[in-house]
This record gives sequence, C-alpha cells and structure tokens, in this order.
Amino acid sequence: MSNNAYKNAQIQFDGVAETIGLNEATKQLLREPMNEYHVSIPIKMDDGSSRVFKAYRVQHNVARGPGKGGIRFHPEETVDTIRGLSMWMTWKCAVVDIPLGGAKGGIVFDPRELSETEQERLCRGYVQKLWKTMGPDLDVPAPDVMSSAKHMLWMLDEYETIVGSYQPGVITGKPVGMGGSLGRTEATGYGVIYTLREALEELKIDAKDTCASIQGFGNVAQYAARLYTEYGGKVLAISCWDNDDKKAYTFRKQDGIDIEKLVGITDNYGTINKEKAKELGFEILAGDAWLEQDVDILIPAALENQITIDNVDKISKQVKVIAEAANGPTTPEADEVIRKSDIFLVPDFLANAGGVTCSYFEQVQCNMNYFWEKDEVLEKLDTKMTSAFRAVYDLSKKDKLYMRDAAYIIAINRVVEAVEKRGWV
Ligand code: GLU
Repeated sequence: MSNNAYKNAQIQFDGVAETIGLNEATKQLLREPMNEYHVSIPIKMDDGSSRVFKAYRVQHNVARGPGKGGIRFHPEETVDTIRGLSMWMTWKCAVVDIPLGGAKGGIVFDPRELSETEQERLCRGYVQKLWKTMGPDLDVPAPDVMSSAKHMLWMLDEYETIVGSYQPGVITGKPVGMGGSLGRTEATGYGVIYTLREALEELKIDAKDTCASIQGFGNVAQYAARLYTEYGGKVLAISCWDNDDKKAYTFRKQDGIDIEKLVGITDNYGTINKEKAKELGFEILAGDAWLEQDVDILIPAALENQITIDNVDKISKQVKVIAEAANGPTTPEADEVIRKSDIFLVPDFLANAGGVTCSYFEQVQCNMNYFWEKDEVLEKLDTKMTSAFRAVYDLSKKDKLYMRDAAYIIAINRVVEAVEKRGWV
C-alpha cells in the first residue's frame, strides 16, 4: 500500500502511458519532475532565537507554459509529496487547457505555531532563496494548504524588492486590490461544484434530492459547501482536523448543516470549535465517520491519501458520486475498488482545477492591468470547468473509460503534443 504521493502519481501515470503507448523517452521525461530546488531558510524568531526551515520548489513540466502551482505550509511536508503534486499540476493545467505547466512548492512548518511576523520573515526568506527560479514567464506560485493571500503578498513584495520593478504576474492568489482577482478565493470550491453539477446532470439526478458529506473545512470545502447548498443540496456531515487534540472529528446534522453558521465557528485553518458546535446541536463523531455516512455525494476536500484500501469498503452503498476536491485523496489501491463500483468519480485534477484556472485569469488581468467584475470571472470559470468536464466525460463515454483515465488521457496527450512539437523527444 502506498501513501507516497509521488509514487501514486507515477503509478497513475505509468498505467495511462501504457494504455496510450508512450515511447520510453517521453515516459521517462513525464514520470519525473524536470527541476527541483531544496533550500534551508534561517529565520530570526520573535524571541531572538534562530530556526531553520526546509523548503522546496519542484517544477514537473513547463512544455505548455511557465510552471504553476501552490506553496503548501505543512509540518509533515515531504519532497515526495511536492513531487507528486507538481505532476498533478501539469495534468490539471492541461486538462482545463490553460497555457501553464506544473509545479509545486512547500515549506515544512505549521503556520499555527508561528507569529505573523515570523511567518512574514519565512515567506520573504523563501523568495530570497528561490527568486531566481520564479518569474511571470518561469514559475508562478499561488496559495495552497494553509497558505493564503497575505503570504502571497509578502512573497510578491520581496520578489519585487529584489528585482526592482512591479511584477504582479509572478504570483497569483494575491489580495483583491493588490493584483488579485475577484472570485479567486471561491474558485477551487466553486469549480468542484460546477463539475459535480455536470456529473449529476449526466446521471439524471437533481441536486435538490441529494445530500453530501465533506472531509475538511478549509477554503475549498467551505466554498464547495456553499455553492452545493445554493444548488439545493444538503450537507449532512463535515469533518475537520483539530490541532489541539491532534486528531480529526466529524460534525453531523442529519437535517442539514447551515454552512454560514458553521463557518462562523471555524478558525482560519478550517478547525471547527467543538464546544460551540455542541451548542449548535451538532453530533460530534470520529474523524473518519465522514466517509461512512449514508449520503449521495462524498467530497474529500482535505489532504492526500484519505480514501484507502482500509476504509474504502466503508463507503455507503447510497453514494453515487465522489468529487475529489483535494489533490490525491484516493490511493491507487482504493481507486481500483471505486473503479469497479457504480460510483461516478470526478477525479481530483479535473474537479479542483478551478483554483488554477482563476489564477490564470488573474495573470491575464494583471497583464492587461484591467480587472473584471466577479460575475464575469465566475462565468468564465464555469465555462472553462464545464467544457473540461464535458471533454473528459465524452471521452469516457465514447471509449468506456473510468473518468480518471479519460482525464489523464486528455491531459497527457496535450503535454505529449507540446514536448514533441518542441522537439524534446
Ligand atoms: N493550489 C491550487 C491547486 O492545487 C492552485 C494552484 C494555482 O493557482 O497555481 O490547484
């Protein structure tokens, strides 16, 4: 059993490479990142002591455009996770057909344990170490797990200070008014629900007749839950990580969760306050209970490797759709079980491509120095996500393919075309 995101990304890639008959050199090129940077960042802490943080940036493939992908903040971060995630970014940008490559970064730390000023120094330190590898035409970071617009602005400011000019295209997910795009905060979660809406339509299921269970309650999950309830669905259970107890809990309300009320008792990192949840009448269950609920839709929106061979059999027979909002939430072994079941899967790099698609819109707006209204951004996002879903779905129907395989075939073929036309292979 593999809980290594890089290995899992390679297992998925190798399977599809075999199916579409890629030649050896192309396989070799695409199953590994092209560049990676490992750095140590020494930081002065507020109490005068010094600490050194490990950080990475991995660029998987840039044949279709500059590297693109978030910078994760996580105490358990590993370079293999970043490698796997950088591969998934390449496929993500290709499946929605935006002119960007795949990259990912990470700093090994827990922002909950650093002050604002320490976080700022660390963000600036990251750019001091890696600015030469960054650039609007080179590699463009964005927010990801536990990083947000304020971190992006510190990084942007440091980059612009070093190069001595305004460079708003070097980073996306910036605050609105500081080069950020309206709708960027909503984009990943909304994108998940646009693809879910299309899936339900194909399955001839009315969203109003459905209920869902969600893993995670960070930015992506919150906006996914909001739009899903706007479409008439009912969220019955949401799980989240509790940093004090160092374990997860599931918060359930059988008659449907009021998302705004729950957001009101959730901190910036997606941790729901247990005491307040009890006052609001939530049942508090074990962390993995989210997966075992009798619901129509499961939305894993936390981290990788959450649906595994050990728990996949606990998924209720009622579940009709899994929309993977997180990157790599399903291990390859569990995926084999889902593939053989009647569950319709919206695979991660298609379902959660809304964030990077809106990042691309942000770059476009920065280049024009003209910013669209929110409705215009969201409409363009919906169009992009819907047409990507349609292309994957149509291929899966035509060739009787599992949705993940169809998404991979489209994405890999686009990247292969770019590397071949460039004459790399
Ligand atoms: N971190 C997001 C993702 O995994 C967005 C990346 C971006 O906007 O570059 O897709």
